[in-house]
Amino acid sequence: MNRVLNFSAGPSTLPLSVLERARDEFISYKGMGFSIMEVSHRGKVFDELHNNAIAKVKKFYGLNDDYAVLFLQGGATLQFAQVPMNLYNGGVAQYVNTGVWTTKAIKEAKIQNINYEVVASSEDTKFDRIPQNIKFSDNADYGYICSNNTIYGTQYKEIPTTKCPLVVDSSSDLLSREIDFNSKNIGMFYGGAQKNAGPAGITIVIIRKDLASRVKDSVPTPLRYTTQIEANSLANTPCTFGIYMFDLVLDWIKDQGGLNAINAANKKKASTLYGFIDNSDFYKAHAKQGSRSLMNVSFTTPSTELDAKFVKEAEQNSMIGLKGHRLLGGLRASIYNAVSQKEVETLIEFMKEFQRVNG
Ligand SMILES: *Cc1c(COP(=O)(O)O)cnc(C)c1O
Repeated sequence: MNRVLNFSAGPSTLPLSVLERARDEFISYKGMGFSIMEVSHRGKVFDELHNNAIAKVKKFYGLNDDYAVLFLQGGATLQFAQVPMNLYNGGVAQYVNTGVWTTKAIKEAKIQNINYEVVASSEDTKFDRIPQNIKFSDNADYGYICSNNTIYGTQYKEIPTTKCPLVVDSSSDLLSREIDFNSKNIGMFYGGAQKNAGPAGITIVIIRKDLASRVKDSVPTPLRYTTQIEANSLANTPCTFGIYMFDLVLDWIKDQGGLNAINAANKKKASTLYGFIDNSDFYKAHAKQGSRSLMNVSFTTPSTELDAKFVKEAEQNSMIGLKGHRLLGGLRASIYNAVSQKEVETLIEFMKEFQRVNG
């Protein structure tokens, strides 16, 4: 079998064992004679799978019944619009701007003409860090952050503790570490599965039910969180295959020892890679110390020509997905949960050789 080393930012690599299990069950789910794609989302078989997946998410994050776990569609992008639509309550919504994805979220708040503020930003330093001393007003309708900035490679080491409900876009670090929802006052926590937790097609939304109930009558029914909470995400046909794949990834995380074990492995991978980059006078990391993402490592060689050569030669060496995002340029290695320490070390060997020849 020829699988390449995949450092794509999203959609991105999935654990091989998950793909193998999906392959084995593709035609006949658990030997029942049908694919999980071919049966009703309201039938007994899918229902059980669906509710088990919800229970697993709740267990990993220690969520009580104040929270609902939804599997929606429309990507994280639709959430940029759904958040202000559902959670703005006539006061103020406060955003921290740490990159492209928060800029897009802020734009949706503007379009909806709500009263919003950008309380901190790292735009003036090309989003190379998470701003310090972020302060949300205690009585804000919600505070908004993106926990991991996929493009710039920055990440909150700690989710801020707030008095106002906090909304977190965790698309690219979903299920990568334990998070205490209660002590942080997280009101809503979401992400597309396709970065760190499954295939494209489902958005995981964890929401405190009391916040969802703020919604105004003018919000269209399919765009209200309350609609999907009441219907257990079945107000319309969900992405059943995506939920199935996500459930397999949840089992894989458990097999790895859970979120703490995953987090420890991620820390080791990231420190190996940043350590190598910092000790080299050839490669340079974009993100500043203290703000560096464990998930996406954005870096450059001394020139854009060498960056392009790097991408090309990496592909010749069976390593894909290393081109940086078009907005930042350079290179990016996404080292999500499913990327192993060994794969990171193989990348570093390639980087060393590339530096030796081109440095
Ligand atoms: C990829 C990404 C998004 C957009 O996700 P879609 O599912 O394509 O809408 C939003 N936020 C972050 C942090 C992302 O990495």
